[in-house]
Amino acid sequence: MRLVDSHCHLDDRQFDEDREQVIERARAAGVERMMAIGTGDGPPDLEPGTRLAERYPFLHATAGVHPHEASKAKPETFAHLRKLARHPKVLAIGEIGLDYHYDFSPRDVQGAVFVEQLRVAAEAGKPIVIHTREAWADTLAVLRDHWRGAGIMHCFTGDAAQARDALDLGFKLSFAGVLKYPKADNVREAARITPEDRLLVETDCPYLAPVPHRGKRNEPAFLADTVRRLAEVRGTTAETVAEVTTRNFDRLLL
Ligand SMILES: [Zn+2]
Ligand SMILES: [Zn+2]
Repeated sequence: MRLVDSHCHLDDRQFDEDREQVIERARAAGVERMMAIGTGDGPPDLEPGTRLAERYPFLHATAGVHPHEASKAKPETFAHLRKLARHPKVLAIGEIGLDYHYDFSPRDVQGAVFVEQLRVAAEAGKPIVIHTREAWADTLAVLRDHWRGAGIMHCFTGDAAQARDALDLGFKLSFAGVLKYPKADNVREAARITPEDRLLVETDCPYLAPVPHRGKRNEPAFLADTVRRLAEVRGTTAETVAEVTTRNFDRLLL
């Protein structure tokens, strides 16, 4: 299988001891390319993704301000992001969006920073990677008002109705290890109804380790577990899922 991990935090401190080996294991497990999400600890550093992607030809990057970190954004943050959006390794602006589960930044600040980054992405002609948690209605409302381009709903954990909302907006849905969680029937139903040309897969590592690794550090080499589960849910083969998700990634982002 040739796989693309559409979302990983390879800059995370949890990889400091063995990042090289993690990347080697991923490649050995068929993960040919990975998208290094560039949000890190937030502004002023917007380059954790590009720093890694510059070192490996098979890594791509995003840049952006995560909703958790929205209150750290300043006017110069967006100027920096505008510049980074033109970096040859930056394929998308993200992860951006709204997170009302943790509320690490005030909701009105999250909203304003989200909208401003949609503006940056639109100017640069780049797709977006959306993080949304317990904020579905507001996320959709912002996207309907401020976004006409392409994008990814990262770590999609909604139900079939929410999947249809996102698909209607033209988004691709990226499925993670959550697909394997026993209680995630709603997510599996969403994965079942998603058209083939809208599917992506990711680990969101080091977070969200799939069963049987749950509770441990996640890494891109575990992506094949999620691909196999997604294939079962859709009544197809893992090879087919690998092929379509790789093609979808390339068409959307390269
Ligand atoms: Zn996220
Ligand atoms: Zn993430």
